[in-house]
Amino acid sequence: MAAITLDNVVKTYPDGFMAVKGVDLEIADGEFVILVGPSGCGKSTLLRMIVGLEDITSGELRIDDQVVNDKAPRDRNLAMVFQNYALYPHLSVYENIAFPLRLTKGQFSDEEIDERVRKASSLLELDEHLERKPANLSGGQRQRVAMGRAIVRQAQAFLFDEPLSNLDAKLRGQMRTEIARLQRNLATTTVYVTHDQTEAMTLGDRVAVLRRGELQQVASPRGLYDQPLNLFVAGFMGSPPMNFLPGIVDGDTLRLPVAGVPLDERLRAAVGDREVVIVGIRPDSFEDADTLSAEKLDAGVRFEADVDVTEWLGEVFYAYVPFETHEAVREKLDELDRDLDGEGMRPQLVVALEAMSRIRAGDTA
Ligand code: ATP
Repeated sequence: MAAITLDNVVKTYPDGFMAVKGVDLEIADGEFVILVGPSGCGKSTLLRMIVGLEDITSGELRIDDQVVNDKAPRDRNLAMVFQNYALYPHLSVYENIAFPLRLTKGQFSDEEIDERVRKASSLLELDEHLERKPANLSGGQRQRVAMGRAIVRQAQAFLFDEPLSNLDAKLRGQMRTEIARLQRNLATTTVYVTHDQTEAMTLGDRVAVLRRGELQQVASPRGLYDQPLNLFVAGFMGSPPMNFLPGIVDGDTLRLPVAGVPLDERLRAAVGDREVVIVGIRPDSFEDADTLSAEKLDAGVRFEADVDVTEWLGEVFYAYVPFETHEAVREKLDELDRDLDGEGMRPQLVVALEAMSRIRAGDTA
């Protein structure tokens, strides 16, 4: 196992495109780190540089204390699991898993290979399928064979590039739990690329959010959710996404499209001397006033809203509340929109409430 350190790592492709713009990231020995971000942000490029499939233009990549920029992939002893699994169709499951060990030409005896393959396949519950060819396996089983290949090598770290994106929703969920369990049992340093929110929030010890080749924030899933450092991270993590509402400071009140909020000490400090601000409110920060105690009602801000569309998803109930924007906040909203690549301004509030049969479409929330 190993620690992986990126020090001001840059990738400029031959056509001059800078896909990674000076990334600093320290991944501790045994840590599970997720790289997440929108399409094209440079996640795969970063992973491929770590594993050695892509040259590093400048900066330093260290595995433990050794600089490995110029080391060939096979000398880095890292195991990569790809989205398409990269299995050999003509080889059995057994031989697919044994393949990396056979490649070392004599470093492992047949007995050693057998022992390692059987141990990995037992860990992955593939024992019954060792003689099958990949074509006769389910997507999840193929995924496990690909992981088996990484495990038998006893690599210093596992690198995953969107390993679950070819699977259906149910299998994705199962494999996600399996990967989490496996990583915990093996405690192998793991870097995992995904654009899936759930994977990012549930799998990693820490999540690194990338945008246009730059790291935005690295934190625990909880830290990202509760204390996003900027609007991009705030809007990227969470589903449905955080509501962004324009707020106008009016004496001791912050006027939002749906309600006026008293500026208490904490809000006052956050607002500073600004006159117009953007207020982020997660959909699940709302509650149905009818269900609250008097004490809780007193502590909150109550408002009535005309619900436009409702969605009932079993556990949770979403209500969509359109709102008008004030001329005075236009500039701020345009700025927000630019900041979020044109996805910032939705003139509606999304409210997530615990689903209750008595909340019907059209009711006030
Ligand atoms: P996705 O989630 O869509 O896979 P990603 O975050 O993994 O995206 P990368 O594959 O790392 O993104 O690509 C980052 C950027 O670099 C993209 O804009 C891509 O078009 C560009 N890029 C990738 N490979 C090359 C290349 N060989 N030459 C030039 N540009 C490239």
